[in-house]
Amino acid sequence: MRTRIENLKGLATLRKNDQNCDFLAGNSMDDWTMIDDAFIEMDSGLIHDFGDMNACPQETSNIKIIDGTGRFILPAFIDSHTHLVYAHDRSEEFNMRMHGLSYKEIAASGGGILNSSKQIMSSNEDQLLDSLLDRLEKSRNTGTAALEIKSGYGLTADSERKILRVIKRAKAQVSQKIWSTFLGAHALPLSYNGNHDAYIEEICSNMLPQFADEGLIDFIDIFCETNYFSPRHIDILCNTACKFNVPLKAHVNQFSSIGGLQAAIKNKAWSVDHLEFMTKQDHQDLQKAFQSNLSYRKPIPVALPGCSLFLDIPYTPGRQIIDSDLPLAIASDCNPGSAPSSNLGLCWSLACHKMKLTPKEGLAAITTNAAYALGAEKKMGHISNGIEANLILTKPISNLAFMPYSFGENNIEHTFIAGK
Ligand SMILES: [Zn+2]
Repeated sequence: MRTRIENLKGLATLRKNDQNCDFLAGNSMDDWTMIDDAFIEMDSGLIHDFGDMNACPQETSNIKIIDGTGRFILPAFIDSHTHLVYAHDRSEEFNMRMHGLSYKEIAASGGGILNSSKQIMSSNEDQLLDSLLDRLEKSRNTGTAALEIKSGYGLTADSERKILRVIKRAKAQVSQKIWSTFLGAHALPLSYNGNHDAYIEEICSNMLPQFADEGLIDFIDIFCETNYFSPRHIDILCNTACKFNVPLKAHVNQFSSIGGLQAAIKNKAWSVDHLEFMTKQDHQDLQKAFQSNLSYRKPIPVALPGCSLFLDIPYTPGRQIIDSDLPLAIASDCNPGSAPSSNLGLCWSLACHKMKLTPKEGLAAITTNAAYALGAEKKMGHISNGIEANLILTKPISNLAFMPYSFGENNIEHTFIAGK
């Protein structure tokens, strides 16, 4: 049955004059078409028609009509970077931190990634799946229709496979579209005694080939940072990943600039995530990557403002990135250690309040540009006829800016996924 929402206060197309574009960069992030006084029709899970109320079809038979007075229709949110499979939250570590303990002290008392890894080892797939499904429902309730989920709390072949299998099972059970990323190179297991090369070798010769053969992974990822993995490890990892046609997404430049961004660009990353710490050279190299005419996908920068809020570290220089005529995507980074929230509406607020994006730029970052970070830009992240009807109907609000303005509020009345 067809559904039509009428009398909408506004409809955010995320398209500029109906032009097709893969992502919005620079000025165009703020310069896309908003239709005031609009309608939209969904049929068989797809967007069937939309436009100005003056052009709204009159037929009413066999059509469910919803009155959208005072409300906006937006493309549903897309979360291109999460770590949603974990056994337990780490609120106790947060409590310790709020009592003044340092990271070192918390880690020494059994906290951190290695703690999450121990908990994964002792959990079974069904338990992990149940908690993942709860988290997915939460993210759907805050408007997320599609998301990427990383492994990385396993750190052994068995535990990493366990996480990836849980993601695969979730893919088959929920309406949200899910991509799976193998982040074996998240931290060094204690058993490797400081030998990062040996662990990367284990990932490349054992884990990655198996997981790719088993159809468990869409992307590969690595945490490139001082005292973690190096740009050279990105090269080695990608050398194997490209044999299996698994593209790279990379954690780079969170705390320091050690060449991770450049290595990710060189290895044709689909996105470069974090970028809280960027030198002038990093900015220039990223610009160069977008100016080049090479035919492969561009490495879209992805900011994770929830992590900056939680860890109280600098925010990715989003304003500067956009002012350099680059695109910017934003994701939640939802994970138990450094960003325990999947609420992209809150990330939208942080993008405006802390990174100085305009409300329209913030929306572009969690919709159309987030779709590009996952290679899904033709299918979602904007409003066009014939694509899947993944949409957010807001509550009655005064204007679009009210969404990021009212931080911490959920102004979503309904999230449609494939028209449902
Ligand atoms: Zn992350």
